[in-house]
Amino acid sequence: MNGKNIVAATFVDTNAQKLNAVNPSTGQIIDGDFDKANEQLVDEALVAATDAFAIYRSINKDVKAKFLNVIADEISAITEDLVKRASVESGLPAARLQGEVGRTTGQLRLFANLVAEGSWVNAIIDTAQPERQPLPKPDIRRMLIPIGPVIVFGASNFPLAFSVAGGDTASALASGCPVIVKAHPAHYGTSALVAEAIMKAVGKTGIPKGVFSMLYDDGFEIGSALVKHPLTKAVTFTGSFKGGMALVKLAEQRPIPIPVFAEMGSINPVIFLPKALETQAETLAKKYAASITQGAGQFCTNPGLMLAIASPALDTFKKALSEAISLIPSATMLTAGIAHNYNELASEIIIDDSTSILGISNLKDKDLQNQSQALVAQIDAADFIANPKYREEIFGPYSLLVVAKNLSELEAAIAVLDGQLTATLMAESEELKNYSSLVNTLTDKTGRIILNGVPTGVEVCAAMQHGGPFPATNDSRFTSVGSTAIYRFVRPLAYQDWHPDLLPDELKNGNPLHIFRTVDQKLTNHE
Ligand code: NAP
Repeated sequence: MNGKNIVAATFVDTNAQKLNAVNPSTGQIIDGDFDKANEQLVDEALVAATDAFAIYRSINKDVKAKFLNVIADEISAITEDLVKRASVESGLPAARLQGEVGRTTGQLRLFANLVAEGSWVNAIIDTAQPERQPLPKPDIRRMLIPIGPVIVFGASNFPLAFSVAGGDTASALASGCPVIVKAHPAHYGTSALVAEAIMKAVGKTGIPKGVFSMLYDDGFEIGSALVKHPLTKAVTFTGSFKGGMALVKLAEQRPIPIPVFAEMGSINPVIFLPKALETQAETLAKKYAASITQGAGQFCTNPGLMLAIASPALDTFKKALSEAISLIPSATMLTAGIAHNYNELASEIIIDDSTSILGISNLKDKDLQNQSQALVAQIDAADFIANPKYREEIFGPYSLLVVAKNLSELEAAIAVLDGQLTATLMAESEELKNYSSLVNTLTDKTGRIILNGVPTGVEVCAAMQHGGPFPATNDSRFTSVGSTAIYRFVRPLAYQDWHPDLLPDELKNGNPLHIFRTVDQKLTNHE
């Protein structure tokens, strides 16, 4: 593994300060030195990306699809090393990371298929009507075009699927935009291995080298410089509200503002309706104990909030949840910082006068560092409604059960919620129709509404929406998961009365790419 910064798919020598990865379970430094980047490298990466964009933006779609598939092949080929390194760096179990390799390569192949098929550019053609009275109608043809170099901030909680070759990178590359990754300090080595796989794919497919760069830093300097650089055209981020909003503000303050797509967190409310609790209280408790603690709760879709109306069935649910949580061992969190935040916030909940503890898990191994014990607490709806602090995310294996006296109090508690990535309803089919007002209120709060499932586990597919009203994301019109994530990096361009031979293939007469287009208001893949 090489710990040098990468500019234009090439390792760069610098006399830099060395950075090291840390094993969160032991606090020990892991093998490998990584060079701290500097502002000159930021500039070189952006100049190279801009030069490469001139070619890559209109490169043949099959070559682009092959590039994405070869990245997936190269990552698959190093699965064993990747899982080993990512597990030591993140404290996540090997089985989880094995799955994440599959998700990462699957994601790349999904975008390869999208690009190869080609219709994603949303080509619209309105042919000319020279005879139209009183004025002739011009020939207008519109399609989506890529915007230019994209900065990707890898996320700590998915060292593969939301990092160097994760969904943000895959969708940006698929759109025709070069990518510069700011490697996350929680997994330098994993980032280096994946970056090398991308570099190999660049070499094998003849893609312009400036299409990929990656820089290391342990603070905000390089990230800020990347966002502020005049050649940067967009930014993607997954992490804290504070971090996301800092980048949004930086981008807004530029002389030429650019879009930042920040996914910043969510408490993912789950509403247990009365009949569902009456029929399956114990099953639901076990299901939710597992969902709250999966991956040490370090998911943006973790069910951090549960809401229900007081009833004997809810008491059975609480008892079963308490038992299930107490059986779950503690787990290593991703970083010392994340563990510190979690333990501080969890301690505050434990001593809070308005909350009571429903369940707390055991400390598995006192010798391990950065452990999190799962915590489920309870609060009355009135207190929850009165104090916004209970609606803030506690990142980790934590959930708060809000107990309402009646339906109107339950609805009032839902009404005060902020925007969410997901909202879940646990309900019997026949009771749902009695809650249409509650369902409407909930729908307005979220990007994905789940019926009788758990919010953890985000399917990567064309219909997925992973993005919700503020503060879950800063722009709820977009998703960071699934193939429509590509639309973050494009803008529409209309060609008016353009010479037919000079039009892009997507808009040419005769439809040489055989893609679906809207021609004179009819969707067709014919000429
Ligand atoms: P983070 O603090 O938000 O950092 C994420 C990335 O953004 C890092 O590369 C970080 O750089 C960079 N960054 C943050 N603030 C910045 C700023 N003001 N200027 C420039 N760059 C900035 O996330 P984290 O370190 O992964 O975890 C911290 C907390 O974030 C967690 O406790 C949790 O609350 C939240 N989180 C949420 C999600 C989610 O799914 N929404 C996922 C992971 C974490 P450096 O680290 O190099 O400083």
